[in-house]
Amino acid sequence: MFEYQAPPDLLKDRIILVTGAGSGIGRAAALTYAKFGATVILLGRTISKLEAVYDEIEANGYSQAAIYPMDLTGATEEDYGKLADTLRETFGRLDGLLHNAGLLGALKPISQYDMDNWQKVMQVNINAPFLLTRELLPLLRKADSASVVFTSSSVGHQGRAYWGAYCVSKFATEGLMQTLADEEDGISHVRCNSLNPGGTRTAMRAAAFPGEDPTTKTPPEAIMPLYLYLMGDDSKDVSGHAFHAQPRSGQQLSQ
Ligand code: NAP
Repeated sequence: MFEYQAPPDLLKDRIILVTGAGSGIGRAAALTYAKFGATVILLGRTISKLEAVYDEIEANGYSQAAIYPMDLTGATEEDYGKLADTLRETFGRLDGLLHNAGLLGALKPISQYDMDNWQKVMQVNINAPFLLTRELLPLLRKADSASVVFTSSSVGHQGRAYWGAYCVSKFATEGLMQTLADEEDGISHVRCNSLNPGGTRTAMRAAAFPGEDPTTKTPPEAIMPLYLYLMGDDSKDVSGHAFHAQPRSGQQLSQ
């Protein structure tokens, strides 16, 4: 497990946007960032789930969050522009962006993979992070030190049969992260890294491995040290790197 002990005020006064913040790992990350002092913008497609996270943040007495409903499958370039305008008017800058929302799609061979499924997975997993990053970059550059974190996967490093568009989208995620990190190097205080959560107890994991006992998997809360490290100033000078939240075992299939 990635070891890191964050100081309680690590993210004090930071503005951080989390995609897919209503459930799974995104929910845990949003709650954790709020706990460490950040104002979190909760972006996702299911308003009731976002509201539940918002209420939990409020009940804990953390910094008040904001909700931004958005379905990344259908969002247009204009929608991303509107989001950037809203954040500029409300906050004037952005300190952190966690690209977490993800779609598993079909698990089937490339020879049988249909275009509709392929496009949906690519839209959510790679086109959305690209457009979101492009539109929010001016706001990220306004922060003293900003962090963009891309969510990868074990299959973003090593191809695996039947993982189709999901696997390809995670390889693309690594490419986007490296390209952006190289471009921002020396011209801004924006750093970019990717993280692979490793097998984590969520709805996506259960869908990918239906025969598995979920209690054998790591809960999202346990992988938060890496999420904190990459968002806080202790990683200020780290950019262009791929991180793994959990040890990788050659024996065990991880997502
Ligand atoms: P999850 O439980 O399925 O959560 C995915 C999140 O993405 C949900 O909040 C979901 O919203 C949101 N989302 C999906 N499609 C969306 C869309 N069209 N527009 C807006 N939001 C959308 O999955 P997870 O396991 O937490 O995964 C989080 C990230 O970690 C993903 O990028 C995944 O690829 C990656 N990952 C997970 C594992 C693992 O073992 N869990 C391993 C490696 C990588 P709704 O709840 O409203 O559907």
